[in-house]
Amino acid sequence: MTKTWGFDTTAIHAGAEPDPATGARQVPIYQTTAYVFKDAAHAARLFGLQEVGYIYSRLTNPTVSALQSRIAAMEGGAGAVCCSSGHAAQILALFPLMGPGKNIVASTRLYGGTITQFSQTIKRFGWGVKFVDLDDLDALRTAIDDDTRAIFCESISNPGGYVTDIPEVARIADAAGLPLIVDNTLGTPYLCKPIEMGATLVVHSLTKYMTGNGTVTGGVVVDSGKFDWSASGKFPSLSEPEPAYHGLKFHETFGSLAFTFHGIAIGLRDLGMTMNPQAAHYTLMGIETLGLRMAKHVENARKVAEWLEGDARVASVTYAGLASSPWNATARRVYPKGTGALFTFSIKGGYEAAVKFVDNLKLFSHVANLGDARSLVIHSASTTHSQLTDAQKIAAGAGPDVVRLSIGIEDVGDIIADLDQALAEASR
Ligand SMILES: *Cc1c(COP(=O)(O)O)cnc(C)c1O
Repeated sequence: MTKTWGFDTTAIHAGAEPDPATGARQVPIYQTTAYVFKDAAHAARLFGLQEVGYIYSRLTNPTVSALQSRIAAMEGGAGAVCCSSGHAAQILALFPLMGPGKNIVASTRLYGGTITQFSQTIKRFGWGVKFVDLDDLDALRTAIDDDTRAIFCESISNPGGYVTDIPEVARIADAAGLPLIVDNTLGTPYLCKPIEMGATLVVHSLTKYMTGNGTVTGGVVVDSGKFDWSASGKFPSLSEPEPAYHGLKFHETFGSLAFTFHGIAIGLRDLGMTMNPQAAHYTLMGIETLGLRMAKHVENARKVAEWLEGDARVASVTYAGLASSPWNATARRVYPKGTGALFTFSIKGGYEAAVKFVDNLKLFSHVANLGDARSLVIHSASTTHSQLTDAQKIAAGAGPDVVRLSIGIEDVGDIIADLDQALAEASR
């Protein structure tokens, strides 16, 4: 049934039948740690993965399950696993693919925290990373080696709002027999469906647009169900016998749901980065209006970007939706509904002017977040990207004179008025 629904209907209904016990129309918050087994044999079957059901909320919870089914439907995936944050989702996605000595090839244009997670923290697992400018497809091909286990990019990238040519990158991943992982936090399935373009896995920070009101941290890994984990012998966690489950082979047993089952039965069980049912509830509430919100976000962002580009106090604007952007052709082809609502601009007057501008905004909130209904601002170089080297900052689009805007869904006239008065103060 879900397959025939449009985007907004799916966002409201997928994964959520009326509660079988009470008829409750909205998804209840199942605030419980454990679930009573019917008998000892039932418990044994659940533990042995011979039957699917609820055991313990580190693994599965009905409120979280409803959200997982909904996001899987919205992204066109076979299954999804929610977890405690976007960063947790990245580890959960990589964990079954990687091992000591293995590497990922990742875009240079990523959320600052992801660059740090990849370049510093995953080293301690023995995992490597090679950063490549994904506009250079030859460089991508060259970077892939025998130990590469995945390609990672953002659909629309933080902080510049640049866009990735997912179909082209997916073709290269496919030719190399590797899964493509796309962080679709900034695109959301409203603007971008990475799986339709050839991605294997989609990750999200649900903290951002998917929830949309700045209330929770959450993440998700969506599996396309299309990758053949057994073909190359490179993904033994999915294709070979699993000692913790009496030699069960995930791919052979669960087919297109192998990655999803592994994510729950091994990932959440042993890494424990579980989403709590309260967070799932907030995200379920927010996601119902994703289509309405994203349309308004994009409309406002386009108007603000055009206004800034025409202002003499502004040096440049990165919004890929602008005709002047080097990414505009890709944007039109791959992201016809728009390129989101996060972008940067550089202000004339450098670091000093950038900081003064941020300090003088009144409607915008100066916070380390994005994708809220409210307009938000941050000076990336001194905050989200401060742990990067100067070269990494420039490569990520977070130089000293750069200000990042997350355009909200307020009245656009009020947003522009606030920017105007803060620019006046900054250029004084
Ligand atoms: C925020 C963000 C993340 C990290 O998500 P958290 O929920 O903060 O852990 C990852 N990728 C992108 C693009 C983000 O904006």
